[in-house]
Amino acid sequence: MTDQELLERADTIAGRAYAPYSGFHVGCAVLCRDGEVVEGVNVENGAYPLGVCAERAAFSCAIVAGYGPGDFVVAAITASPCGGCRQWLAEMRVERVVFRNGGRVVEMTVDEILPEQFEL
Ligand SMILES: [Zn+2]
Repeated sequence: MTDQELLERADTIAGRAYAPYSGFHVGCAVLCRDGEVVEGVNVENGAYPLGVCAERAAFSCAIVAGYGPGDFVVAAITASPCGGCRQWLAEMRVERVVFRNGGRVVEMTVDEILPEQFEL
C-alpha cells in the first residue's frame, strides 16, 4: 500500500468522525508491519478536553487488536498531529508519519516530528 493510498483511507474514515462541536473531521490510517490497516477518527465530547484525537483512537484500536510499539510502518493523518499525538506516535515507534497540512502533504519520521524525545 502506498502512502497516498493510506492517506486516502484516512480521508474516507474521517467521514465517521464524531465532531459535532468543531465540525473538524480527522481520520488516521495506520499501516502495520503485517499489512493490516488500523483506522481511527476523532471523537469529541461536550466536556471538550475529554475528546480523543484520530491518532489516539487508531492506536487504541491497534492495541486492542494485539499490536504494540514497533508494529507500525506509517501513520497517515488528514491533519497535522497535535503535540500530544506526536508523543503517541513516538511511543508507538511509528517509522514514518504522512499528513496534510494546509494544501501540502508532509512526510516525516517520528524523530523529525518530535525531536529530542525523553530517554531513560
Ligand atoms: Zn492529537
